[in-house]
Amino acid sequence: MSTQLSLENLRALVTGPVLSPSDGGFAEEVSAFNRAVVHTPDVAVGVTSEADVVEAVRFAAVNGLPVRMQATGHGAESAITDGLLITTRRLDALSIDAAARIARIGAGVPWSAVLTAAEPLGLTAITGASGTVGAVGYTLGGGVGPLSRSHGFSSDYARGFTLVTADGSVVTANAEENSDLFWALRGGKGGFGVVTEMLFELVPLAEFYAGSVFFDTPHIEAVLRSWIDWSATADDQVTTSVAILRLPDFDAIPEPLRGRTVLNLRFAYPGAAAEGERLAAPLRGLAPAIIDTIGVLPTSKVGLIHNDPTEPGPGWVTGGLLSAVDQDFAGELLATVGPEQQVPLIVVEVRHLGARTAIDVPEGSAVGGREAGYTLTVVGVPNPSLFTEVLPAVAAQLTTAIAPWISPQTTINFAGDGSDAERYRRAWAPEVHERLDTIRRSWDPAGLFAYGPAAG
Ligand SMILES: Cc1cc2nc3c(=O)[nH]c(=O)nc-3n(C[C@H](O)[C@H](O)[C@H](O)COP(=O)(O)OP(=O)(O)OC[C@H]3O[C@@H](n4cnc5c(N)ncnc54)[C@H](O)[C@@H]3O)c2cc1C
Repeated sequence: MSTQLSLENLRALVTGPVLSPSDGGFAEEVSAFNRAVVHTPDVAVGVTSEADVVEAVRFAAVNGLPVRMQATGHGAESAITDGLLITTRRLDALSIDAAARIARIGAGVPWSAVLTAAEPLGLTAITGASGTVGAVGYTLGGGVGPLSRSHGFSSDYARGFTLVTADGSVVTANAEENSDLFWALRGGKGGFGVVTEMLFELVPLAEFYAGSVFFDTPHIEAVLRSWIDWSATADDQVTTSVAILRLPDFDAIPEPLRGRTVLNLRFAYPGAAAEGERLAAPLRGLAPAIIDTIGVLPTSKVGLIHNDPTEPGPGWVTGGLLSAVDQDFAGELLATVGPEQQVPLIVVEVRHLGARTAIDVPEGSAVGGREAGYTLTVVGVPNPSLFTEVLPAVAAQLTTAIAPWISPQTTINFAGDGSDAERYRRAWAPEVHERLDTIRRSWDPAGLFAYGPAAG
């Protein structure tokens, strides 16, 4: 970047903080949910309005600085080491038109705020498992959550975006206006512009029948194998997952689970409790539970199904999609990361997809993974000394063992590090990649919104 003076110019044009690495508050401004990833862009701009975004983008274009965005930092997998980082957390406006069932969601709004505002209106948003994730960043990647089988990808509910494009224009993308860009933003993730606001359709649902069951170590194999068979004919309205959890001996963990390796069954049914109870019964009957929290749950409490961490910390996650699973898959999974193996993993989760995730929106959308049947997520012990060699080696061993079941295509929110060329390549089908690239080139010919692998 040329001079300190140019930053002074930007400061005069925007309301939010404009920080260089030597400024106080810089580290906090750029910090990500994953504390193991430390961003060091040349400049961070904490935008407070669409006008701030326009000025930041124009400044970056003039100064040849690549532009990236961060809301909550849940997507931080590799460090940003150059350019201009736009932090959007101050774009926190949220309003709901209850009659139209549309939420207007600012770029910095986390899902929990949308759910909390929608619930008293008898409405909810189709979200992921965690309320602390940002609504916009998540939806741009598609989004798989506890209601995926009954309701599909979250991006299927996006009804429009407002974004600032590479030339500093404010553009609307929806089914009627800039429909190609709208197609891309529903699952194509990045490289199109800075989204300032998203319109998102809500569904009429204030509570569901949902929760978690924890089975002790001796039951893991039997429950996993039975769940695999059960899932082959599961009701389309039920979304479940199973996770082998190696839980630390921490006070924050409920006493009966502390220090144990357990199988956690996650269950969600968006309908009446009696029917939910009937649908959950075969799974509950698989083995005695240590804890069973399945019951009527307000939709704003969706985070209690998966119990993902809500506080930032170092994290190592990898994953992808699976075409199908069967008993041979179970055998390989147990032989590599099952309870008898000494592996530094805290979560190995398989989520059931299909039903609505297999059906695209009528006008089409970019999201990858509609043909997959299941997801796989692997979370390492949060010790950064394991992140560069030990955990990748464990994950590689697992990947080799379950190779026959891995879907040729993944979905970007589950792909892990999007700056990794191979993961990026597999996040969309080749023809979708081609269309996304064409759309990116038409809106951002100079590649200002650096997205994807450096060589890509
Ligand atoms: C604890 C945890 C739980 C998760 N659970 C799920 C889940 O259940 N289902 C699922 O599908 N995914 C899940 N994810 C993955 C998550 O959806 C992605 O990491 C997503 O990118 C996070 O979005 P964010 O805005 O919160 O993160 P950020 O790191 O702030 O943003 C991630 C990316 O989104 C894009 N982006 C963000 N804001 C903008 C903007 N205003 N304009 C343009 N692009 C933008 C950028 O490419 C940015 O790099 C989870 C992640 C974590 C850490």
